[in-house]
Amino acid sequence: MPEPTTALTATADVILAEPLGVLRRLCAHFAEHGRVRVDGACGRIETTFGNASLEACGQCLKLRAEGHDETSLAFVKLSLAEHLLHFAAGDAPRIEWQGDGQAGAPLPYFREMTVASVRDLTPRMRRVTLTGADLARFAVGGHHVRLLFPKDDTPAWPVMGPDGRPQWPRGAARPDARVYTIRRIDAAAGEIDIDFVLHEGACPGGDFARWATPGRRVGMTGPGGGETPRADWLLLAGDETALPAIARMLEELPPTATAVVRIEVDGAAEEQPLASRASLDLRWLHRNGNAPGTSALLSEVVRAVEIPTVPSRFVWVGCEHRGFRSIRAWLRKECRLSRDEHLAVAYWRRGREGDEARGDDH
Ligand SMILES: Cc1cc2nc3c(=O)[nH]c(=O)nc-3n(C[C@H](O)[C@H](O)[C@H](O)COP(=O)(O)OP(=O)(O)OC[C@H]3O[C@@H](n4cnc5c(N)ncnc54)[C@H](O)[C@@H]3O)c2cc1C
Repeated sequence: MPEPTTALTATADVILAEPLGVLRRLCAHFAEHGRVRVDGACGRIETTFGNASLEACGQCLKLRAEGHDETSLAFVKLSLAEHLLHFAAGDAPRIEWQGDGQAGAPLPYFREMTVASVRDLTPRMRRVTLTGADLARFAVGGHHVRLLFPKDDTPAWPVMGPDGRPQWPRGAARPDARVYTIRRIDAAAGEIDIDFVLHEGACPGGDFARWATPGRRVGMTGPGGGETPRADWLLLAGDETALPAIARMLEELPPTATAVVRIEVDGAAEEQPLASRASLDLRWLHRNGNAPGTSALLSEVVRAVEIPTVPSRFVWVGCEHRGFRSIRAWLRKECRLSRDEHLAVAYWRRGREGDEARGDDH
């Protein structure tokens, strides 16, 4: 057996009009996500998913991506490429990575999954159990995945592009992607549970869950996003789309934690039993027939929670865009929580599809 690889690297030389300016913008951006040092024409970025070194020489920005496994390396290459292409859009830069993780290969963070079983948890929440091979990497490094829904029975999946971004099948063969939470993972058994909200309207995610039958295939990339926050006092709030994430976090909290939990659902029939070793102050909020994303209920109730001035506290919020904006503004401006003390995310947005829900606002 070969020794497991502990460090993978890839490099790319990118020609730019102002490489130093782009280096600085990249470093400023990644400072929000990890540790960053800039020293003259050199930069160093260290994040939880991998590291990068950058150097501006003449008209060239030299990139070096480092990962502890294939997935980490692919995430570093992808995230450098996406941000560089954004910050230097006017240059139309050409990025071609050399080294580990070759173009045309399957994405190391992709798995093809098959529906094993389907069951209703409540009238509007359906659990789909997916099976697949080699899932250990999905048990660490984030609770979320992107599910890829093929438009027909002959799915085509993305592969690694030369610039580190996925190369997608063209036209109608391109699957639709939506973000979901890994509610439960058993890597040894090759199983993942996803809890889908069965919301109204034609849509790839909701329709997949509505019509899912054993044997149906779906793509999965990830993992991404955060894990359970470590704090002695937590406020966890969201609507039904965030219920799988809140339920998983509650299961992972230690007995020493105290959690205030506020969850908005349609009505009593949508409540679910939640297990936790932490001390809970749990309230379900009922919309009572009002359409999801139209009430200020969650935002009003969350704003009434008194956030204690303790050294170890964290507020986590996932909900429709309007509530997300209102709660995030309250957390930042009125509660003056630091970035390390809160995370608020728009899980969806009324009238917008998939990633458009977040757009520039997130
Ligand atoms: C990090 C993260 C984790 C998530 N985890 C989960 C999860 O575990 N389970 C889950 O069900 N969702 C989850 N979501 C939300 C999910 O990604 C969105 O609801 C997504 O829009 C669903 O895709 P779709 O194909 O069903 O609908 P889309 O094609 O995206 O949207 C079609 C229409 O339906 C509306 N719509 C979308 N979602 C809802 C909804 N919940 N209620 C009412 N109308 C809606 C849209 O506004 C749009 O008008 C998560 C989102 C994020 C960002």
